[in-house]
Amino acid sequence: MKELLLEQVLNQVEKRQEELLALLAELVAFPTVSPPARNTMQAQRFMEEQLSRLGFETELWEVYPGDPNVTAVRKGTHSGAYRSLLLNGHIDVAEVGDTSEWSVDPFRLTIHNGRAYGRGTADMKGGLAALLFAVKLLIEANMELKGDLLFQSVIGEEAGEAGTRACMERGCEADFAIVADTSQLSVQGQGGVITGWVTVQSPVTHHDAMRSRMIHAGGGLHGANAIEKMAKLITGLQELERHWAVTKAYPGFPPGSNTINPAVIEGGRHAAFIADRCSLWITVHFYPDEDYESVAAEIEEHLLRVAQGDPWLRLNPPEFRWGGRSMIEERGEIFPSLKLDQNDDGVKALLTKHQAVLNREAEVGMSPTVTDAGWIGRAGIPTVIYGPGELGKAHAVDESLDLKELLDYTKVMIAFIADWCNREKV
Ligand SMILES: [Zn+2]
Repeated sequence: MKELLLEQVLNQVEKRQEELLALLAELVAFPTVSPPARNTMQAQRFMEEQLSRLGFETELWEVYPGDPNVTAVRKGTHSGAYRSLLLNGHIDVAEVGDTSEWSVDPFRLTIHNGRAYGRGTADMKGGLAALLFAVKLLIEANMELKGDLLFQSVIGEEAGEAGTRACMERGCEADFAIVADTSQLSVQGQGGVITGWVTVQSPVTHHDAMRSRMIHAGGGLHGANAIEKMAKLITGLQELERHWAVTKAYPGFPPGSNTINPAVIEGGRHAAFIADRCSLWITVHFYPDEDYESVAAEIEEHLLRVAQGDPWLRLNPPEFRWGGRSMIEERGEIFPSLKLDQNDDGVKALLTKHQAVLNREAEVGMSPTVTDAGWIGRAGIPTVIYGPGELGKAHAVDESLDLKELLDYTKVMIAFIADWCNREKV
């Protein structure tokens, strides 16, 4: 009986694909580009309205002015006794740049040769639309869902902002989570990213005429140029990066994926001064079996040892500022890593449904990029990245999404939700 009903719901996906595309078109029409961000209020109100029509209790709450998260719960008929599922997606999209390079309007969905074109189609308004449509079809068919269904439509992912992090800090529990970010229907974990600032600061500011007394025999002035000292630390970072590349590895990543990139350097005040301050902004990639605290601690320890080998840095060691909740507000971000446990019930159930619905095995692996999934995993919820769209099309000019893939994704999600939310808790 239940199988028959599910079959009917799955058949609806193709029959009613125009509705799914209309929903995607509405989402794409909101220009939620980030940066500059602070422009998602209307889009999030739309998401909230869609969710509340589907029977969710919704909350819309600002993370930054003009950028609210929407969190929603649809209580199951046996809430608490059956398994709950969290669905997460970000409403912001990558910046568009020079629109004259686009052959279509980035904010008007265009369908051409089996693909949907528009900013956010691949990353990840396609995923959001599919999730909403999957739930809609299940509910319209009166499919009983015994466990709770939770939904997070978050802001800020593109600018390393703490949209999902703020959801987890507010409190969120679920037995499994799917982040519908761009994975081309692969089931993925991810490495992590943390940015940091390394700063060398001289306690004294000198005129540039003092340089000869600072660097030559008999000068007698124990001072330093902060830019030159930073060069020493950069060399130290390169040594540590090479050491990591040789000694650390993780399945699913090319060797040496754990990089330390000196991304931005700021130092000195004027040509008439000895540089008394220099700051280096670094981007650190690490593996799923590492967390950002330990990685930051390793870098600090190494650079402090490098500093010990220098008579001036020994007395004036570098200072560190790690991470941040926003690239825009704080010039810092964190994306925790996410392991993928193939023995987890949720992962197994998802792989089974993918195979059953699409008649092929899902690829399982590691995303070459980072998503908000790390924050959910870090909160103790078994989580995977699983969404439609190709990374090669995300953030690109003429961003697009394969329509067949979008429909396939919607079908798998329908089958998975119906299965997972009707399983008794362990
Ligand atoms: Zn994304």
